[in-house]
Amino acid sequence: MAGFYLFYAKQRSHHQVTYAMMEDVDAKIRIAIETLEAQFGRQTRFSERPPMDQLIATILSQRTNYANERKAFDRMWERFGSWENIMEASLPALTEAIASSNYPEVKAPRIQQVLRLIKEERGDFDLNFLATMPVEDALVWLMKMPGVGHKTATFLLLFTFRKPVLPVDTHVHRVSQRLGIITKKINQAKAHTVLLSMLPREAEVLLNFHKLFFKHGQNICTWSQPHCSACALTKICDYFYSQKQNIFLT
Ligand code: SF4
Repeated sequence: MAGFYLFYAKQRSHHQVTYAMMEDVDAKIRIAIETLEAQFGRQTRFSERPPMDQLIATILSQRTNYANERKAFDRMWERFGSWENIMEASLPALTEAIASSNYPEVKAPRIQQVLRLIKEERGDFDLNFLATMPVEDALVWLMKMPGVGHKTATFLLLFTFRKPVLPVDTHVHRVSQRLGIITKKINQAKAHTVLLSMLPREAEVLLNFHKLFFKHGQNICTWSQPHCSACALTKICDYFYSQKQNIFLT
């Protein structure tokens, strides 16, 4: 792991409060993981879903919470009962079945296109061949599918196939930036490779990191307003430090 980070220790001299800074991004990541593990527990749960289920569920989960994704998937499956039937279903019927997922009118044709492509190329709907494919090739293969970007592909490869890749969603990206693990210039697409280069290439470690940062971003370090007063990471947070500086400078 390499890079920089600022570690802040509050110091008092006379009536002034200042923050000392120390550079060490490895330590920052380690402290963040240990602290979030103490809060949420170590994250060890990979997906038990079959790969096809997980791929389509991941498409349904885009901009949708877990409960509504599950509802959409279960309703779709109850209604059509097989991938073949889902592929052949009328678009309005499929759109209606997955309506609890957001943007069903976009996702329904995408799901059918994905199923057609897989059927054309593989002859069936079995994705288990990805387990033995090199990671880079598997990413390229998956990202040929409409609606399957790097994030969706890495979700499937990590959660289902336990490959050493790192999905970076909006929560993981935001928390990493606010803490100062990655700079503000690194967008979500680039953050996959930058964060991965800072972490051990082990699926268990990457799953734990992803889920801890996801939970923290969803519950505490939220997009609209980070709840810093309830956060255990203030000592290692660039954002928190910059806010304090603003207060003391004004
Ligand atoms: S201190 Fe605030 S900005 Fe920093 S990680 Fe915690 S909630 Fe997010």
